[in-house]
Amino acid sequence: MVNAHIVARGIRDAAVVAAMQSVPREAFLPPELEEFAYEDCPLPIQKGQTISQPYIVALMTAALRLGPNDRVLEIGTGSGYAAAILARIAREVYTIERHAPLAELAEERLRELGFANVRVLRGDGTLGWPEHAPYDAIVVAAGGPTVPQALLDQLAVGGRLVIPVGEGRELQTLVRVTREASGEMRREELGDVRFVPLIGAQGWAGDQPAPEPPAWDGRVVRPPRHPEALSHLISEAAVPIEAIESSDLGALIERIGDARVVLIGEATHGTSEFYRMRAEITKALIEKRGFDFVAIEGDWPDAARVNRWVQGLGDGAALLGDAFARFPTWMWRNHETLSFIGWLRERNEKARDTARPGGFYGLDLYSMFTSIHAVLGYLDRIDPSVAEIARERYSCLTPWQADPQAYGRAAISGRYRVCEAEAVAMLRDLLERRLKYVGEDPERYLDAVQNAALVANAERHYRAMYYGANESWNLRDQHMFQTLQTLLAFRGPDAKAVVWEHNSHVGDARATEMGVRGQTNVGRLCRERFGESAFLIGFGTDHGTVAAANDWDQPMQVMRVRPAHPESYERLCHDSGRPAFLLHLREPERPEVRTELAEPRLERAIGVVYRPDTELQSHYFHASLPHQFDELIWFDETRALQPVTRVESSRFPGDHPFFPAGA
Ligand code: SAM
Repeated sequence: MVNAHIVARGIRDAAVVAAMQSVPREAFLPPELEEFAYEDCPLPIQKGQTISQPYIVALMTAALRLGPNDRVLEIGTGSGYAAAILARIAREVYTIERHAPLAELAEERLRELGFANVRVLRGDGTLGWPEHAPYDAIVVAAGGPTVPQALLDQLAVGGRLVIPVGEGRELQTLVRVTREASGEMRREELGDVRFVPLIGAQGWAGDQPAPEPPAWDGRVVRPPRHPEALSHLISEAAVPIEAIESSDLGALIERIGDARVVLIGEATHGTSEFYRMRAEITKALIEKRGFDFVAIEGDWPDAARVNRWVQGLGDGAALLGDAFARFPTWMWRNHETLSFIGWLRERNEKARDTARPGGFYGLDLYSMFTSIHAVLGYLDRIDPSVAEIARERYSCLTPWQADPQAYGRAAISGRYRVCEAEAVAMLRDLLERRLKYVGEDPERYLDAVQNAALVANAERHYRAMYYGANESWNLRDQHMFQTLQTLLAFRGPDAKAVVWEHNSHVGDARATEMGVRGQTNVGRLCRERFGESAFLIGFGTDHGTVAAANDWDQPMQVMRVRPAHPESYERLCHDSGRPAFLLHLREPERPEVRTELAEPRLERAIGVVYRPDTELQSHYFHASLPHQFDELIWFDETRALQPVTRVESSRFPGDHPFFPAGA
């Protein structure tokens, strides 16, 4: 963590880096959160407070420019973690916390870890700790409306005070004030930050209830006022689903109307009902509304094999291989998806003379090296001299084949070459040769260009991972959105797409905590680009089983899904008493469905990893459901999807994209 998030992001102060390396952050966390200790993010501690993000602790500590003889005052002890970092560098640390239980716990931890140079006080830190003043450095770990005068008064000549200051309680600017030898106060701004409020005589007034939010704006959710009334409303407005494969989707298709893109989410990556229902809606959209293709949250090269297979495009032999065979295999190599692609191939065959063939494409970014091979393979065949140039350019990236994340780390360390120019030049060359190449086989040209675009975006993505979760998330979703637009353009001016991705990519990010953190997603980008012509559908469930792993790269298991949290949307749906339903949210017949459900509450997201033991921290976030989706589809009890196994291969034709011949 220290190398990837602290040093790589520009903190070079050797004393700060050494302190960050030596203090065990897990010792300052509640036991159930210990496993997240080395994620670079703030985490909840007792009394509704937080332990700060490690990078911010490092940034603030470095901004204090501490020396070994300094005496430091900290306001906002919280867990005691930042005090421990300060105490590794400075001679004496005085720290004040307004919540007694936090102050006591921090004091005990610091003592147990042997920090003899820290003293903890319970009290109002905005007034400072005059007995030990003046201080060489003062750091405030909570956001105030102004810089407290009492703290300025307790700053030694030459002393530095670092504090987040903001007009509202939500966002602040990190400010450093230095008392110059002349007695003057020099003020510098160090960037935007987000801290819990500084409450006290020279801070904000005591805890107040948050005012009514107009729409989701990131405030902490209040417990539901009338959950029973809301569940009753859902029960009345819900349109029941009797059986997935024979449900009447007419009204939903009407509501989707002339939309150009329909995004269908999933609340987990391993629930059979979500995949099956999504397939049924997609079939109806293809048959009744002329939708052209499905674009999934999966690798482009793997989906490309499926695409050629469903479209019956020649040379099956060259396409053999295990599509979607890397972790998490079950996400697409499952019977539910298999059944859909079988249907699509058959439908394409039948409609050969009357309709454009339905396509199947991957939007995701995680196939940098397969994509490089695909570009080289294409050029070897069509233009060998350009293939030579491509080999030379991509050789910049090939040393990192086994571990592309290591490329990102090495590139931003400044000690290795950044391959951006090469990757971008290759994409540009392919685009410039469009007229020359496209005639041969337009799908193949699209495939090559898309692989080259993927390499260029993945190169940036792996570097961005070391600048923070937001940048890399945003690059990934922007890549997926760009790919969708490329596909729509390729298919012609009236092309229509169905997108299959997790709810977290499909639901409008502005209506969730993600938006507050500065993250965008495909749903939001589609709404901004297509307006009402983008229709966003989310799924939800209360309990049952799910296919997931307990960690990345671990085997799939069938896991039990815990019943939903009492303050979640899922609980409201569960309490409606309806086992399965559609709930229209964009323009419901009863407008109160939209208004009453708008107040943000918890929502659950299960990805390929499921951690039931830390479910609240790992899987719940705040959202405003009617702003996030145009429609919700609910299955109260759900089952894990069925992964396909290699043993099953004998039942499938030799050119099947999931099963290489004889595998
Ligand atoms: N430095 C802490 C750590 O490493 O865990 C994190 C601090 S947390 C972001 C902010 C803390 O400031 C909270 O524990 C909060 O109770 C405390 N706080 C807010 N106003 C305060 C005040 N006037 N005096 C002392 N503590 C205050």
